[in-house]
Amino acid sequence: MKIVVVGGVAAGASAAARSRRLDEAAEIVMLERGQHVSFANCGLPYHIGGVIRDRDRLLLQTPESLKAALNLDVRVGQEVIRIDRAARRVSVRRLKDGSTYDEAYDRLVLCPGALPVVPPLPGVEHPRVFVLRNVDDMDRIKASVDAGARGAVVIGAGYIGVEMAESLRHRGLEVDVVEMMNQIMPPLDREMTRELESHMAAHGVRLHLGTAAAAFREKDGRLAVELVNGDLLTADLVVLCVGVRPDASLAKAAGLDVGERGGIRVNEWLQTSDPDIYAAGDAVEVVQAVTGRRMQVPLAGPANRQGRAVADHIFGRGGGYANTKGTAVVKIFDMTAGGTGASERVLKAEGVAYRKVYIHPSGHAGYYPGTAPMHVKVLFAPDTGKLLGAQVVGFDGVDKRLDVLATALYAGLTVHDLQHLELAYAPPYGSAKDPVNMAGFVAANLLKGDVEAWYAEDFPAQTSRGWILDVRGPSEYEEWHIPGARNIPLGKLRASLGQLDRGSPVFVYCKVGFRSYLAYRILKQCGFEARTLSGGSLTFIGHHGYDVCEGQRQAPVESYPDERVAARTAPAGAADVDLRGLQCPGPIRKLAEAAQALKPGDVLTAVASDPGFAQDGPAWCRRQGHEVLAVERRGAETTLRLKKGEPCVVAPAAGAPAAGDKKTMVVFSGDLDKVMAAFVIANGALAMGSDVTMFFTFWGLNALRKAGPQAAGKGLLDRMFGWMMPAGARRLTLSKMHMLGMGTAMMKHVMRSKRVDDLSALMEQAVKGGARLVACSMSMDVMGLKREELIDGIDIGGVAAFLGEADGARMTLFI
Ligand code: FAD
Repeated sequence: MKIVVVGGVAAGASAAARSRRLDEAAEIVMLERGQHVSFANCGLPYHIGGVIRDRDRLLLQTPESLKAALNLDVRVGQEVIRIDRAARRVSVRRLKDGSTYDEAYDRLVLCPGALPVVPPLPGVEHPRVFVLRNVDDMDRIKASVDAGARGAVVIGAGYIGVEMAESLRHRGLEVDVVEMMNQIMPPLDREMTRELESHMAAHGVRLHLGTAAAAFREKDGRLAVELVNGDLLTADLVVLCVGVRPDASLAKAAGLDVGERGGIRVNEWLQTSDPDIYAAGDAVEVVQAVTGRRMQVPLAGPANRQGRAVADHIFGRGGGYANTKGTAVVKIFDMTAGGTGASERVLKAEGVAYRKVYIHPSGHAGYYPGTAPMHVKVLFAPDTGKLLGAQVVGFDGVDKRLDVLATALYAGLTVHDLQHLELAYAPPYGSAKDPVNMAGFVAANLLKGDVEAWYAEDFPAQTSRGWILDVRGPSEYEEWHIPGARNIPLGKLRASLGQLDRGSPVFVYCKVGFRSYLAYRILKQCGFEARTLSGGSLTFIGHHGYDVCEGQRQAPVESYPDERVAARTAPAGAADVDLRGLQCPGPIRKLAEAAQALKPGDVLTAVASDPGFAQDGPAWCRRQGHEVLAVERRGAETTLRLKKGEPCVVAPAAGAPAAGDKKTMVVFSGDLDKVMAAFVIANGALAMGSDVTMFFTFWGLNALRKAGPQAAGKGLLDRMFGWMMPAGARRLTLSKMHMLGMGTAMMKHVMRSKRVDDLSALMEQAVKGGARLVACSMSMDVMGLKREELIDGIDIGGVAAFLGEADGARMTLFI
């Protein structure tokens, strides 16, 4: 038996290796156009990002190693250019010299993979517009980054696009991501991706959603990327990650059947329309497991398993490949996201009936550190409860829930079955009721009629038929609520029943769905027509964004569900305090309360989600004389471990400047002249050897803004604020004699002519001189400013960070 394999990576190498294991006597030739076989394409972005440092780690095999281990005849740099089916041979071209030869086969296995889509846009042929498919592409991109690139634009926010964005950020580049859809990660449903978008933005990735690249051109030695919406981005390289199309050209030319979507058509044994020719991997059409539709699912797992199945069938060992579930997962900085089966979008498009539930359990037991809420969506058949699809997004434990759900889908399990899965549990890994069990409980309740749900998309059309009841606490309600909702905390609901309108349906909600479920049970048994919001306000915000909540403060999506913010019991001598969901100065206030209850020498662990806490917590400790044992940032959370000190004022640490050497300023004003005065004083103080800390709050923050578009994902009110306020030092105006801009322009002119530095230059000097610029986290929140909208090199801190500095200074100015 002579087997010729075209393509030597995932599917091709699997088919060849398995063939050898099944038949020692077979002649196996593997022809690969590129210079590498069996390389790890999935690892390519991580070598560019520097996480996988050693390039050779990606090259899993070489022709020599495959010869030695498996006696395969591997030929790289050789392209199959034609199949002669009648003669059962292929024509091969040696790429190094263009010479050709023929190779006969008994069985031919086509594994040519897919080609990256390159949209025909003006300038797309520019040498610094890249695609990423193989090792050569990776080398080119990495060389461009290594050559000192400062910025990159990634086109497309699918799996590879977001991995590239993360990797390029790791290398310190400014990264813009452009995505045609109004969300990242198109395989997931929209409401599941909003937190991922915030997370990417928090890591400095600028997202441009709902728009597309229109053209690329060279500009001042850099690349200008024009977007369809008129925005212009500047970068040093562009990476196109807009998808792949199956490489079926060889098959097509040989008259083999090709499907509507361009993939090679195969039967359940992966045979093409010619039974002696098999095909596997990205080049073939597969059957989607849930919808039964033929489609392309370019993933490594299916490709590898198909390659193996081909060999099994050739050697009479069964084989066969039924369908693809599309199970996929991706790391996005500290978050993980993925799905299995069909998304809601696909089910709708295919007209498949479904029901759905959302839950937000933590990745592992809430009392064991290092966890955060995950967002789970499960889609299932309305009659049988059979699983149709699932998506999971979060920080810890996402991948294992996805894999359990993928296995359940493979096995044809129902949501009733999910309730009974016995899954491994210990506090660091899960909960006694695992998120998968929880999804089963909630979904089964729905099917059994123990609960009736309403969904975020029912607002406002459906909810206007009745009234909306918010059963969270008053402070949660004050912070954010669905417009028009009435607040009756769960604990007061029974006592209020007499005053409630029974004539129209009640749409109940809480933060994650648990309190509203309890409220639903009360209301229902008391004769109300009620429904509970699936996934609570977390899913609601994921669906609608913040715009629907106009006029109200944003609730951070990642804040911790109150149901599980329980008082912690701590062993003597140690305690922990959960500050998640609190905004500055809340975390410090609660931290102080917790520390008060301890004896000197006791250890306190505090976990907060307020981004300013990483600065504020240690600053507060220093002021109070507590020892900071550790500060750890993990995903959305900061963990601070402190040892309570004796109640005394601590001496400054060795090397810290003496009190007289330190100046602090609160820059409250956003007027050009006042901010300039602040920086003139700051530069003077630096020149005299002082340490300087400038705390920018309210209008003063405008001086720290960058010019350019506002960050993605902001609510309408925040965007309006952004438009109304001056964006950056160059846009500030005089406090007096502005005269519709004339006065400010005159002042700038006079300053130039008298060689007085402008504000931007003064700021630059201050930063270079070592001034510490701190943006007030609370004011940023109020004014809707995001970290990426502020200039680089500044810190974000709360009032405690400032007071900590001011305490050690002899002079504090308020400007
Ligand atoms: P390929 O791996 O593309 O191999 C096909 C080979 O055939 C190519 O090397 C090509 O040169 C060769 N070839 C084509 N035509 C000829 C010819 N005429 N003659 C000779 N040789 C030819 N999937 C996941 O599941 N998880 C991930 O995290 C993931 N990350 C990825 C990251 C990147 C950057 C990329 C590019 C892909 C990623 N994938 C991931 C997808 C996964 O790598 C593919 O699905 C898988 O490699 C497909 O295997 P294949 O054998 O069909 O094609």
